[in-house]
Amino acid sequence: MNKLLFIFQVITNIALAIYNTTVFENTQFLDKQNYYQHVDSIMKQKQNETNENFIKRGRRFIQQNQETHSLRITYDIFKENDQIITEELQTYIESLLDTAFSYYQSLLYVKHIDQNNTFYLKELNNCLGFLIESDHFVTGIEESDLHLYISFKQSDTDIIASAGHCYIDPFLQRPTFGRILLNLSYFQKINRTNLQFFRDLQSIMHETLHILGFSTASMNYWIDPETNEPYTFKNVHKILKQKMIDDREVSVLSSANILKTIRVYYGCESIEGMLLENQGSDYTKNQHWERSILMNELMSGSSNPEGGVFSLFNIALLRDTGFWDVVDENQANPIYWGKNQGCQFYENKCQADLKYDEFEDIDGIFDCSFTGEGFGVSQTDPFSDDCPIIYPTDSQLCINYEQYQQPYKIDNKYQDNLMFNYSTQSRCFKSTISLDDSAASFANFRCLKSFCNEEGTQVTIQIDQLQIDFICKQEGQTLLVEDGTKSYGKIICPKSFPRFCSSFQNICPQFCSQNGYCVKGKCHCNRGFFGNDCSQRCNEENEDGQCAIKCPPDQYINPDRTCSKDCPQGYFKNSESKTCEKCDFSCSKCNGPSNQNCLDCHILSYLKNNTCVSECGEGYFKNKQSKQCQKCIEGCVKCSNDKVCEECDALNGYIQSSNLCKNTFCDSQCLTCVPHQKEKCTSCSQDYYLDKTQQTCQDSNNCPPGYYSDYEKRECIPCDEGCLLCKNSSYNCQSCDETKNYTLFGNKCFQLINCFSPCKTCLDESNSVKCATCVHNYYLQGEECVEQCSIGYYLHENKCLKCNQNCESCINHSDNCMSCSQDKQLSNSKCYSKCMQGQIWVNGFCVDRPVASYNAVIQNRVLSAKNNQFQLLILCLLVLIALI
Ligand SMILES: [Zn+2]
Repeated sequence: MNKLLFIFQVITNIALAIYNTTVFENTQFLDKQNYYQHVDSIMKQKQNETNENFIKRGRRFIQQNQETHSLRITYDIFKENDQIITEELQTYIESLLDTAFSYYQSLLYVKHIDQNNTFYLKELNNCLGFLIESDHFVTGIEESDLHLYISFKQSDTDIIASAGHCYIDPFLQRPTFGRILLNLSYFQKINRTNLQFFRDLQSIMHETLHILGFSTASMNYWIDPETNEPYTFKNVHKILKQKMIDDREVSVLSSANILKTIRVYYGCESIEGMLLENQGSDYTKNQHWERSILMNELMSGSSNPEGGVFSLFNIALLRDTGFWDVVDENQANPIYWGKNQGCQFYENKCQADLKYDEFEDIDGIFDCSFTGEGFGVSQTDPFSDDCPIIYPTDSQLCINYEQYQQPYKIDNKYQDNLMFNYSTQSRCFKSTISLDDSAASFANFRCLKSFCNEEGTQVTIQIDQLQIDFICKQEGQTLLVEDGTKSYGKIICPKSFPRFCSSFQNICPQFCSQNGYCVKGKCHCNRGFFGNDCSQRCNEENEDGQCAIKCPPDQYINPDRTCSKDCPQGYFKNSESKTCEKCDFSCSKCNGPSNQNCLDCHILSYLKNNTCVSECGEGYFKNKQSKQCQKCIEGCVKCSNDKVCEECDALNGYIQSSNLCKNTFCDSQCLTCVPHQKEKCTSCSQDYYLDKTQQTCQDSNNCPPGYYSDYEKRECIPCDEGCLLCKNSSYNCQSCDETKNYTLFGNKCFQLINCFSPCKTCLDESNSVKCATCVHNYYLQGEECVEQCSIGYYLHENKCLKCNQNCESCINHSDNCMSCSQDKQLSNSKCYSKCMQGQIWVNGFCVDRPVASYNAVIQNRVLSAKNNQFQLLILCLLVLIALI
């Protein structure tokens, strides 16, 4: 495989620079350790004091039913005199902060208290080293639930920012003050593209989440759901444990929601906790999700070229802190890394016996990245537990559309020829397409503009150069790119549509143009902006700061303040306000008229009568496929599926009868019966079959004429139309109703009306065997209806079509040969004439039979062709094909 990589490198000159991960935290940047030790010692002293002022403000005095409101984050920015910040940079940074905080404002809700946000720890004069205004200790800050001090440091490291909480209010029991330190040198040197903003926004969101509770320093303060009190140092071991996994000592987080979530997500019931990062400095280690099992999560230890996803893992963690009254799961974006991969993935990652798409076998392999947002070379990174992962460089990122735009434009003639397209809608495909044949087969990856349909069952690839759309209907399908006159090569469809399509939920149009954040593919624009990419300024604002929009009568105002006939996932159409309104936090989909009319639920809950519940209750079981609470069989109070009952409803006269529940009131042949009519059966005891027409139970030989006894359903089931006697299945017919012109053909009955046999319609009424269309399960081959296409034909839209005359058999397409006639040779799904005597077949060409081995032939040819560039290219092609 290394050879393949080499060839691609030589031909394309795409730099294979190693991707430098940008570490989020570092010991030298912000000294948190000493600060937290100091705070903890003060807090211990204070625990003995009873301070009336404190208690009055306490959470325990907040009424249970009190309304929640979104978290109000306020902040102050401080710049030192020698720090140079241009107006543009200041706008950029403020937009970053505003966008990140407005995300958290729509994610977190707290109960209202009627007091200013005050720093009640006068013994401290600073917030993680930042000197606090005395006013904040006394009068506090108005309209604030969390106040952040933002300042800058000039540092040549690759750190973007560092942050932490500096005060967890002991009575409100949540962080109320925090600090973010930004690396000014970093912000001064970046190109402020939309992609850069998207990445920096994620860095700020990452840092803010450390303040909101994702930090070992705050875990002592998390609320233990068993006691409703903070865990404290003494009990934090209940959720933060040390484990040996695969010979590495690791920390695992096992708080309640995290534990439930990861077991469902990875599909492994035995997981004891979520792995925290086990590599890196003290400020990275244990403070992030383990990269190898959750690579592209926002809270992994370093930034990711494709961006990080704010996923359900952070939702579960924020719930487990106990700090926040509501955490809105509808604000999470989808993640696929390791999903449903089982216990082995979690425990052994790339060292497992199974091969996972998340990892490559070794470093240096060229491939599309797991999300499909780019392509690149596999490499192990400092946090990936020695697992090789594909990291696209900026130039290999399909979503990096700005790299070919002014003022960052670089030459892209080569990419044009290969029909590359860079946009937030572009993804990586394995493909050989090119406008000009000469370069065709060498580079095997393309960035192509693509779309998923709403159900995620179809991927459309739009090739602007040809002005043709190509549609992937099956995962892994090969598409031939042709325009009627010419063939341009092949595109391989994505291996997993759900994974591929989920990426479009994480990347919004133009990354929301530095004016908003992206949730489930929709931009949420900052105050003053609107449009599907938040690029337009409002003409007029509402009282709440959002753009005043009026939509046509059949349309609704979307979160990006555009008008559309539909609302995004997590919203419903409010026909009164003509606005897409948020579903209740409990539902992932809803349809109104109330926001609690759920259609679908989040990962840990199940749908029952249009509400989402975590427990289904008596008489129901959790159907994990449909995510619904499904009823047990009649008379059953406890079951885990709809076949077997674990406990029958004894109170209502049901007793266990093998795996079912028998109603003791009914006649003995009945299992269950119509209430108060013991002889009218609704289901039957073992060895009996329900005759629905008579509501009686029959033994296997006594179903009425035209019915058979179905063992699975335990019912008499009617035979197919026209059949008088069938056995074991409705279509296994033994005699037909001749009075209605039915005739047995094989083991099916066909009606002789105009056409004969499995013809549904025929070409010519006088000649009823020449078919025009066929009955169900039969395919038209020539003028005949057949159950299976003959050799030399392939199935296409219910018809058997002839293979290309060169193929003996083919599949999906007439040119896609599966086998060839005796005098032909199969290569690359094509049939070629066999070589003459003295020659052998080598990947599409007849070459002279070598004296030595095959490898030697190639090598000699390389040497002799040294001076001929064209021949060299052809040979590279041969090697490439051989390697594939
Ligand atoms: Zn971090």
